Amino acid sequence: MRAVLPPDALPDDEMRLHLMRRLEDEVLACQRCPLAHTRTCAVPGEGNLNAVVMFVGEGPGFDEDRQGRPFVGRSGQFLTDTLTQLGIARSEVYITNVVKCRPPQNRDPLPAELDACSDYLTRQIELVNPRIIVTLGRFSMRRWFPTGAITQIHGRVRNIGRGRIALAMFHPAAALRNPAWQTAFVQDMGKLPALIERAQRANAAAARGEALPAGAPHPGDEDYVA
Ligand code: URA
Ligand code: SF4
Repeated sequence: MRAVLPPDALPDDEMRLHLMRRLEDEVLACQRCPLAHTRTCAVPGEGNLNAVVMFVGEGPGFDEDRQGRPFVGRSGQFLTDTLTQLGIARSEVYITNVVKCRPPQNRDPLPAELDACSDYLTRQIELVNPRIIVTLGRFSMRRWFPTGAITQIHGRVRNIGRGRIALAMFHPAAALRNPAWQTAFVQDMGKLPALIERAQRANAAAARGEALPAGAPHPGDEDYVA
């Protein structure tokens, strides 16, 4: 059984790497939902295990299912390019999805599939302990923004507990289909550099045992439970 880690008791880097590799192996072999029968490769996620920012998309598409890596197709290129333009390297962040296996024909993930896969994301968040979670698209948004349409909620930030905030954004694939949403996507992403800087100042202050900068959520805040 998995232990829930208190926010100030993260395992050291080597242990976290080990736990993440074990989680990835579990995902690659997972049979918890019917998407296991239609996938080519499961896509656990990738990135910096010390990332301040975690991106959470919907699920693998055609290219991701072939390569076993998240956001490597056209929408992934758009996501990566938008980050690069803001001075954020893809290798700095952690990227994953709410379902780790491709839904056939890229259909929406079903509630039972989201439920079956949810625990992997919970564990990834505990391991990486990001201060900022960026939700890409409706299904990821719903985990932390229980009501409201994405057209209303995108660009919004909320405290989700444990020293974390969530920032809701359009899915990059949706942004590529709709010019107004593309503008909103780039604009919303533009909030990240300042949020990252505040998060880094908060981490540095916490490491020195000092008070957190104004506006930074506290690691002791209650965890958000959907
Ligand atoms: N769309 C997603 O939601 N996730 C990916 O990894 C790729 C495309
Ligand atoms: Fe397992 Fe998630 Fe893949 Fe379903 S989508 S088989 S729960 S890894």
